Amino acid sequence: MEVADLGPLMAYARGRVAEAWAERMAAMAAAFAPRAEVHDRDGTVAAESLADLRAAGYPGLTAPREEGGEGAGLADLCLLQAILATGDAPTALGLGWHLSLLLGLRATGAWPEEARRRVFRAAVAEGALINSCASERETGSPSRGGRPTTRAEPTAGGYRLSGRKTFATFSPVLRWFLVPASLEDGTVGEFLVEAGTPGVRVEETWDTLGMRATASHDLVLEGATVDEDALVERYRPPERSRRSADAGGPLLHVPACYLGIALAARRELVAFAWRHRPNSLPGPIAEVAAVEEQVGRMEMALLPALAFLFDAAAAWDAADAEGRAALRHRLAAAKVAGTEAAVAAVDIAMRVVGGLSLSRRLPFERFYRDVRAGLHNPPMGDMAVRALGRAVLAEGKPPVSP
Ligand SMILES: Cc1cc2nc3c(=O)[nH]c(=O)nc-3n(C[C@H](O)[C@H](O)[C@H](O)COP(=O)(O)OP(=O)(O)OC[C@H]3O[C@@H](n4cnc5c(N)ncnc54)[C@H](O)[C@@H]3O)c2cc1C
Repeated sequence: MEVADLGPLMAYARGRVAEAWAERMAAMAAAFAPRAEVHDRDGTVAAESLADLRAAGYPGLTAPREEGGEGAGLADLCLLQAILATGDAPTALGLGWHLSLLLGLRATGAWPEEARRRVFRAAVAEGALINSCASERETGSPSRGGRPTTRAEPTAGGYRLSGRKTFATFSPVLRWFLVPASLEDGTVGEFLVEAGTPGVRVEETWDTLGMRATASHDLVLEGATVDEDALVERYRPPERSRRSADAGGPLLHVPACYLGIALAARRELVAFAWRHRPNSLPGPIAEVAAVEEQVGRMEMALLPALAFLFDAAAAWDAADAEGRAALRHRLAAAKVAGTEAAVAAVDIAMRVVGGLSLSRRLPFERFYRDVRAGLHNPPMGDMAVRALGRAVLAEGKPPVSP
């Protein structure tokens, strides 16, 4: 596959990291696409594709250069994640959680240095993956402020963890689970729990409509004992973790992933429109005015969403800590705009393709199932839009008269 096949995305391929990675990632995405179809059916992680990404050093993309990583920024991350998602969105999402966590650590300097460097180095040297396993059935999305029902009790040399986390993306292939748990004193701790720790197991519960190959199973902690130094953050709600000082910027890997799906739908739609020649027409449906208009509408959904995404990512890359905090609502809005545009674009593609879009012989039905998951990844749309509105209203709030 030529890089040009990625349509409007390549306008954002700028700088050192894009130069080194964009074409390579496009080639990998093309190779991964047929495998993605198989893993979607099985609901398994695309192990071969993950091995290829590891061999290429991709898990170290956002690790600092001093630790041997690529030191990629947020715009770089969004670009490469979108390209990867054009071939295999579930694998992109799994890598996205990992790479965004590393980027957030780099930006905020959260955690004790030893733990942070251990995670960076293992990502670079071994392709070791980490993910935050925060969601729970009882609390729903952790971004809504619910306290973890998972508990941490102090022991002689560390802590004992008990609870169940849901939606743990890539749980079968992670080296580390980052687990928030409530402590008896009312604080919340974040624990770096290594796979294979006794009392930690993955229960295969993930049987969903879309993003099936993320293997986002339940993580079960049954009195799992960890050392004291596994506690990497501790805060008292409504205070938030130090990592949250990244203002949610690294989470832009989420809309990047779902826009990647939409760009794959765009590419497949264009190919279909030139291929499909019903005998009621003198030529392919690509020459039908209604199809031109629908494809134009699709592009009108995608272009502003991509521009918004990369503008927000570049602003985050350029900002200091204070500047990033001021970007929080804009970053969240870029996520919502990106995922909504991706859903709309895939919907248009399916309408143009028609009944055949429902067939499993074409990729559109998979795109349709996968793209919907973006609505349920953080930041949550309802909260992001409301916070944005509140911020705008606050700007014009009249002073209270004495
Ligand atoms: C593909 C995929 C991968 C994921 N990977 C991970 C992962 O790796 N790690 C992880 O931790 N999580 C992961 N998640 C989970 C995700 O972050 C959310 O926790 C999950 O989708 C549940 O969010 P929710 O908003 O649907 O649920 P809930 O928060 O339970 O909300 C359900 C509904 O109730 C309403 N609601 C609930 N609480 C409130 C409230 N306080 N105020 C107003 N309305 C409320 C909401 O509006 C919503 O409509 C993943 C999700 C998906 C789809």
